[in-house]
Amino acid sequence: SKAGGRGRASFYSPHMSTGVVRRLQLERALRNAIALRQLSVVFQPQLDLDEGRVVGFEALVRWRHPDLGQVSPAEFIAVAEDAGLINEIGEWVLVQSCRIAAQWSRPLSVAVNLSAVQVMTQDLPALVERALRQSGLPAARLEVEITESVLLNETEATLAQLHGLNRLGVRIALDDFGTGYSSMAYLRRFPFDKLKIDRCFVQALNRDPQARVIVRAIIDMATGLRMATLAEGVETPDELEALRAEGCTLVQGYLVAPPLPVEQVEPFLARHAAS
Ligand code: C2E
Ligand code: CA
Ligand code: CA
Ligand code: CA
Repeated sequence: SKAGGRGRASFYSPHMSTGVVRRLQLERALRNAIALRQLSVVFQPQLDLDEGRVVGFEALVRWRHPDLGQVSPAEFIAVAEDAGLINEIGEWVLVQSCRIAAQWSRPLSVAVNLSAVQVMTQDLPALVERALRQSGLPAARLEVEITESVLLNETEATLAQLHGLNRLGVRIALDDFGTGYSSMAYLRRFPFDKLKIDRCFVQALNRDPQARVIVRAIIDMATGLRMATLAEGVETPDELEALRAEGCTLVQGYLVAPPLPVEQVEPFLARHAAS
Protein backbone atom coordinates (compact mmCIF):
# COMPACT_ATOMS: atom_id res chain seq x y z
CA SER A 1 0.00 0.00 0.00
CA LYS A 2 0.98 3.65 -0.38
CA ALA A 3 1.25 4.00 3.40
CA GLY A 4 4.45 1.94 3.57
CA GLY A 5 7.98 3.23 3.11
CA ARG A 6 8.22 1.76 -0.39
CA GLY A 7 4.86 3.26 -1.38
CA ARG A 8 6.09 6.71 -0.43
CA ALA A 9 8.98 6.32 -2.79
CA SER A 10 6.59 5.89 -5.69
CA PHE A 11 4.41 8.78 -4.56
CA TYR A 12 7.16 11.34 -4.09
CA SER A 13 9.68 11.53 -6.88
CA PRO A 14 13.21 12.06 -5.54
CA HIS A 15 13.23 15.49 -7.14
CA MET A 16 9.97 16.54 -5.53
CA SER A 17 10.93 15.21 -2.15
CA THR A 18 14.21 17.14 -2.14
CA GLY A 19 12.40 20.25 -3.29
CA VAL A 20 9.75 20.18 -0.60
CA VAL A 21 12.07 19.29 2.25
CA ARG A 22 14.66 21.83 1.23
CA ARG A 23 12.06 24.50 0.77
CA LEU A 24 10.77 24.02 4.31
CA GLN A 25 14.32 23.89 5.60
CA LEU A 26 15.24 27.10 3.80
CA GLU A 27 12.07 28.84 4.92
CA ARG A 28 12.69 27.99 8.57
CA ALA A 29 16.34 29.03 8.38
CA LEU A 30 15.54 32.20 6.48
CA ARG A 31 13.25 33.47 9.24
CA ASN A 32 16.27 34.06 11.47
CA ALA A 33 18.80 34.94 8.79
CA ILE A 34 18.74 38.70 9.36
CA ALA A 35 18.78 38.50 13.17
CA LEU A 36 21.66 36.01 13.04
CA ARG A 37 23.59 38.25 10.65
CA GLN A 38 23.80 35.58 7.96
CA LEU A 39 22.90 37.96 5.12
CA SER A 40 25.34 40.26 3.40
CA VAL A 41 25.43 42.39 0.28
CA VAL A 42 28.04 42.17 -2.48
CA PHE A 43 28.61 44.79 -5.17
CA GLN A 44 29.24 44.22 -8.88
CA PRO A 45 30.75 47.11 -10.86
CA GLN A 46 28.98 48.66 -13.84
CA LEU A 47 31.29 50.08 -16.48
CA ASP A 48 30.54 52.97 -18.83
CA LEU A 49 32.19 52.12 -22.15
CA ASP A 50 32.19 55.71 -23.46
CA GLU A 51 33.85 57.13 -20.40
CA GLY A 52 35.87 54.00 -19.73
CA ARG A 53 35.12 54.10 -16.04
CA VAL A 54 33.05 52.47 -13.34
CA VAL A 55 29.87 54.47 -12.75
CA GLY A 56 28.11 52.32 -10.18
CA PHE A 57 27.56 48.93 -8.58
CA GLU A 58 24.67 46.49 -8.45
CA ALA A 59 23.90 45.30 -4.92
CA LEU A 60 23.30 41.53 -4.70
CA VAL A 61 22.26 39.76 -1.53
CA ARG A 62 24.19 36.78 -0.16
CA TRP A 63 23.13 34.24 2.45
CA ARG A 64 25.56 32.00 4.29
CA HIS A 65 23.98 29.51 6.68
CA PRO A 66 26.24 27.55 9.08
CA ASP A 67 24.87 24.15 7.96
CA LEU A 68 23.35 24.84 4.53
CA GLY A 69 26.38 26.83 3.38
CA GLN A 70 26.08 29.53 0.75
CA VAL A 71 22.53 29.54 -0.66
CA SER A 72 21.97 31.24 -4.03
CA PRO A 73 19.55 34.17 -4.13
CA ALA A 74 18.13 32.57 -7.29
CA GLU A 75 16.86 29.90 -4.88
CA PHE A 76 16.10 31.70 -1.62
CA ILE A 77 14.48 34.87 -2.97
CA ALA A 78 11.63 32.74 -4.34
CA VAL A 79 11.30 31.00 -0.98
CA ALA A 80 11.28 34.37 0.78
CA GLU A 81 8.56 35.61 -1.56
CA ASP A 82 6.34 32.60 -0.87
CA ALA A 83 6.96 32.68 2.87
CA GLY A 84 6.18 36.38 3.26
CA LEU A 85 9.77 37.19 4.18
CA ILE A 86 10.80 39.14 1.11
CA ASN A 87 9.70 42.57 2.32
CA GLU A 88 11.88 42.37 5.42
CA ILE A 89 14.84 41.04 3.44
CA GLY A 90 14.37 43.53 0.64
CA GLU A 91 14.19 46.41 3.09
CA TRP A 92 17.34 45.20 4.83
CA VAL A 93 19.21 45.00 1.51
CA LEU A 94 18.04 48.49 0.55
CA VAL A 95 19.11 50.09 3.83
CA GLN A 96 22.47 48.30 3.89
CA SER A 97 23.18 49.17 0.26
CA CYS A 98 22.42 52.87 0.78
CA ARG A 99 24.53 52.99 3.94
CA ILE A 100 27.50 51.32 2.28
CA ALA A 101 27.28 53.37 -0.93
CA ALA A 102 27.12 56.58 1.11
CA GLN A 103 30.59 55.71 2.48
CA TRP A 104 32.30 55.17 -0.88
CA SER A 105 35.17 57.50 -1.74
CA ARG A 106 33.51 58.43 -5.04
CA PRO A 107 29.89 59.47 -5.65
CA LEU A 108 29.02 56.29 -7.54
CA SER A 109 25.50 54.91 -7.90
CA VAL A 110 24.13 51.77 -6.34
CA ALA A 111 21.44 49.63 -7.99
CA VAL A 112 19.16 47.63 -5.66
CA ASN A 113 16.90 44.78 -6.83
CA LEU A 114 13.24 44.96 -5.81
CA SER A 115 11.04 41.89 -5.84
CA ALA A 116 7.68 42.06 -7.61
CA VAL A 117 6.13 41.26 -4.21
CA GLN A 118 7.72 44.38 -2.74
CA VAL A 119 6.37 46.49 -5.57
CA MET A 120 2.87 45.09 -5.02
CA THR A 121 2.77 45.24 -1.22
CA GLN A 122 5.12 47.90 0.12
CA ASP A 123 4.94 51.68 0.01
CA LEU A 124 8.15 51.99 -1.97
CA PRO A 125 8.48 55.79 -2.10
CA ALA A 126 8.16 55.95 1.71
CA LEU A 127 10.57 53.06 2.18
CA VAL A 128 13.15 54.48 -0.19
CA GLU A 129 12.88 57.98 1.20
CA ARG A 130 13.54 56.63 4.69
CA ALA A 131 16.55 54.62 3.51
CA LEU A 132 17.97 57.69 1.76
CA ARG A 133 17.40 59.93 4.77
CA GLN A 134 18.92 57.44 7.24
CA SER A 135 21.98 56.80 5.08
CA GLY A 136 22.51 60.31 3.73
CA LEU A 137 22.77 58.89 0.20
CA PRO A 138 21.54 61.41 -2.40
CA ALA A 139 18.53 60.09 -4.36
CA ALA A 140 20.39 60.58 -7.65
CA ARG A 141 22.86 57.90 -6.58
CA LEU A 142 20.19 55.23 -6.04
CA GLU A 143 18.74 53.08 -8.79
CA VAL A 144 16.15 50.34 -8.31
CA GLU A 145 15.90 47.30 -10.58
CA ILE A 146 12.55 45.68 -11.25
CA THR A 147 11.65 42.85 -13.59
CA GLU A 148 8.95 42.71 -16.21
CA SER A 149 6.78 40.46 -14.04
CA VAL A 150 6.01 43.56 -11.95
CA LEU A 151 4.22 45.10 -14.90
CA LEU A 152 1.73 42.29 -15.36
CA ASN A 153 -0.74 43.04 -12.57
CA GLU A 154 -2.02 46.04 -10.71
CA THR A 155 -0.84 48.35 -13.40
CA GLU A 156 -2.23 51.56 -11.90
CA ALA A 157 -0.81 50.86 -8.46
CA THR A 158 2.54 49.88 -9.95
CA LEU A 159 2.59 53.01 -12.05
CA ALA A 160 1.94 55.11 -8.94
CA GLN A 161 4.79 53.39 -7.09
CA LEU A 162 7.25 53.98 -9.91
CA HIS A 163 6.21 57.59 -10.38
CA GLY A 164 6.64 58.08 -6.64
CA LEU A 165 10.20 56.81 -6.87
CA ASN A 166 10.77 58.94 -9.92
CA ARG A 167 9.66 62.06 -8.05
CA LEU A 168 12.22 61.33 -5.34
CA GLY A 169 14.90 61.43 -8.04
CA VAL A 170 15.64 57.72 -7.88
CA ARG A 171 16.33 56.00 -11.21
CA ILE A 172 14.49 52.88 -12.34
CA ALA A 173 15.99 50.07 -14.40
CA LEU A 174 14.02 47.30 -16.11
CA ASP A 175 15.95 44.11 -15.32
CA ASP A 176 16.32 40.94 -17.43
CA PHE A 177 14.85 42.74 -20.43
CA GLY A 178 13.74 40.41 -23.19
CA THR A 179 13.23 37.31 -21.05
CA GLY A 180 9.77 37.94 -19.65
CA TYR A 181 6.53 39.23 -20.98
CA SER A 182 7.90 42.39 -22.49
CA SER A 183 5.41 44.57 -24.17
CA MET A 184 6.50 47.69 -25.95
CA ALA A 185 3.45 49.40 -24.44
CA TYR A 186 5.01 49.13 -20.99
CA LEU A 187 8.03 51.07 -22.12
CA ARG A 188 5.86 54.05 -22.99
CA ARG A 189 3.75 53.90 -19.86
CA PHE A 190 6.39 53.35 -17.20
CA PRO A 191 9.16 55.78 -16.31
CA PHE A 192 12.21 53.60 -16.92
CA ASP A 193 15.65 55.16 -17.10
CA LYS A 194 17.51 52.05 -18.14
CA LEU A 195 17.04 48.68 -19.82
CA LYS A 196 19.22 45.83 -18.65
CA ILE A 197 19.75 43.44 -21.56
CA ASP A 198 19.68 39.90 -20.23
CA ARG A 199 22.76 37.73 -20.30
CA CYS A 200 21.13 35.20 -22.65
CA PHE A 201 21.30 37.77 -25.48
CA VAL A 202 24.87 38.70 -24.61
CA GLN A 203 25.94 35.05 -24.71
CA ALA A 204 24.34 34.54 -28.12
CA LEU A 205 25.74 37.76 -29.64
CA ASN A 206 28.66 36.28 -31.52
CA ARG A 207 27.10 32.89 -32.23
CA ASP A 208 23.66 33.75 -33.46
CA PRO A 209 23.18 36.56 -36.01
CA GLN A 210 19.54 36.89 -34.96
CA ALA A 211 20.51 37.59 -31.36
CA ARG A 212 22.67 40.40 -32.63
CA VAL A 213 19.76 41.86 -34.59
CA ILE A 214 17.60 41.74 -31.47
CA VAL A 215 20.26 43.39 -29.30
CA ARG A 216 20.71 46.10 -31.93
CA ALA A 217 16.94 46.70 -32.00
CA ILE A 218 16.74 46.88 -28.19
CA ILE A 219 19.57 49.40 -28.04
CA ASP A 220 18.12 51.53 -30.86
CA MET A 221 14.68 51.53 -29.28
CA ALA A 222 16.01 52.37 -25.81
CA THR A 223 18.18 55.13 -27.18
CA GLY A 224 15.23 56.59 -29.07
CA LEU A 225 13.20 56.53 -25.86
CA ARG A 226 16.10 58.19 -23.99
CA MET A 227 16.81 55.14 -21.89
CA ALA A 228 20.28 53.87 -21.13
CA THR A 229 21.15 50.26 -21.95
CA LEU A 230 23.27 48.00 -19.79
CA ALA A 231 24.34 44.55 -20.95
CA GLU A 232 24.44 41.92 -18.20
CA GLY A 233 26.73 38.94 -17.81
CA VAL A 234 29.51 40.12 -20.12
CA GLU A 235 32.23 37.49 -19.84
CA THR A 236 34.47 37.82 -22.90
CA PRO A 237 36.28 40.60 -24.81
CA ASP A 238 34.40 39.48 -27.96
CA GLU A 239 31.07 40.12 -26.27
CA LEU A 240 32.28 43.50 -25.06
CA GLU A 241 33.40 44.52 -28.56
CA ALA A 242 30.13 43.40 -30.15
CA LEU A 243 28.16 45.40 -27.57
CA ARG A 244 30.32 48.45 -28.11
CA ALA A 245 29.82 48.15 -31.88
CA GLU A 246 26.04 48.03 -31.39
CA GLY A 247 26.08 51.18 -29.28
CA CYS A 248 25.57 49.72 -25.82
CA THR A 249 27.10 52.12 -23.31
CA LEU A 250 27.07 50.19 -20.03
CA VAL A 251 28.29 46.69 -19.23
CA GLN A 252 28.40 44.46 -16.19
CA GLY A 253 29.85 40.98 -15.87
CA TYR A 254 32.73 38.75 -14.87
CA LEU A 255 34.92 40.34 -17.58
CA VAL A 256 34.91 43.55 -15.53
CA ALA A 257 34.61 41.93 -12.11
CA PRO A 258 32.45 39.47 -10.16
CA PRO A 259 30.26 40.80 -7.36
CA LEU A 260 32.68 42.05 -4.69
CA PRO A 261 32.44 41.84 -0.91
CA VAL A 262 32.08 45.30 0.62
CA GLU A 263 35.74 45.50 1.70
CA GLN A 264 36.95 44.83 -1.85
CA VAL A 265 35.14 47.78 -3.42
CA GLU A 266 37.70 50.48 -2.59
CA PRO A 267 40.72 48.37 -3.62
CA PHE A 268 38.92 47.61 -6.87
CA LEU A 269 38.26 51.33 -7.48
CA ALA A 270 41.89 52.17 -6.73
CA ARG A 271 43.12 49.49 -9.15
CA HIS A 272 40.65 50.57 -11.78
CA ALA A 273 41.67 54.22 -11.63
CA ALA A 274 45.31 53.22 -11.92
CA SER A 275 44.93 51.03 -15.00
P1 C2E B 1 20.02 39.51 -11.50
O1 C2E B 1 19.39 40.67 -10.83
O2 C2E B 1 19.79 39.35 -12.96
O3 C2E B 1 21.55 39.57 -11.13
C1 C2E B 1 22.58 39.19 -12.00
C2 C2E B 1 23.12 37.83 -11.62
O4 C2E B 1 24.11 37.45 -12.57
C3 C2E B 1 23.81 37.79 -10.27
O5 C2E B 1 23.60 36.49 -9.73
C4 C2E B 1 25.28 37.95 -10.66
O6 C2E B 1 26.17 37.45 -9.68
C5 C2E B 1 25.32 37.15 -11.92
N1 C2E B 1 26.39 37.56 -12.82
C6 C2E B 1 27.00 38.75 -12.89
N2 C2E B 1 27.92 38.76 -13.89
C7 C2E B 1 27.87 37.55 -14.47
C8 C2E B 1 28.58 36.95 -15.56
O7 C2E B 1 29.45 37.56 -16.21
N3 C2E B 1 28.26 35.68 -15.86
C9 C2E B 1 27.31 34.97 -15.17
N4 C2E B 1 27.06 33.73 -15.52
N5 C2E B 1 26.62 35.51 -14.14
C10 C2E B 1 26.89 36.79 -13.79
P2 C2E B 1 23.18 36.30 -8.20
O8 C2E B 1 23.87 37.31 -7.35
O9 C2E B 1 23.32 34.86 -7.89
O10 C2E B 1 21.65 36.70 -8.21
C11 C2E B 1 20.71 35.94 -8.92
C12 C2E B 1 19.37 36.63 -8.95
O11 C2E B 1 18.83 36.70 -7.62
C13 C2E B 1 19.44 38.07 -9.42
O12 C2E B 1 19.49 38.14 -10.82
C14 C2E B 1 18.17 38.63 -8.84
O13 C2E B 1 17.07 38.28 -9.63
C15 C2E B 1 18.09 37.89 -7.52
N6 C2E B 1 18.64 38.74 -6.45
C16 C2E B 1 19.91 38.89 -6.03
N7 C2E B 1 19.99 39.79 -5.01
C17 C2E B 1 18.72 40.22 -4.81
C18 C2E B 1 18.13 41.16 -3.88
O14 C2E B 1 18.78 41.81 -3.04
N8 C2E B 1 16.76 41.33 -3.96
C19 C2E B 1 15.99 40.64 -4.87
N9 C2E B 1 14.67 40.86 -4.89
N10 C2E B 1 16.53 39.77 -5.74
C20 C2E B 1 17.87 39.57 -5.72
CA1 CA C 1 19.35 42.83 -11.17
CA1 CA D 1 19.34 40.85 -14.51
CA1 CA E 1 19.05 37.50 -14.74
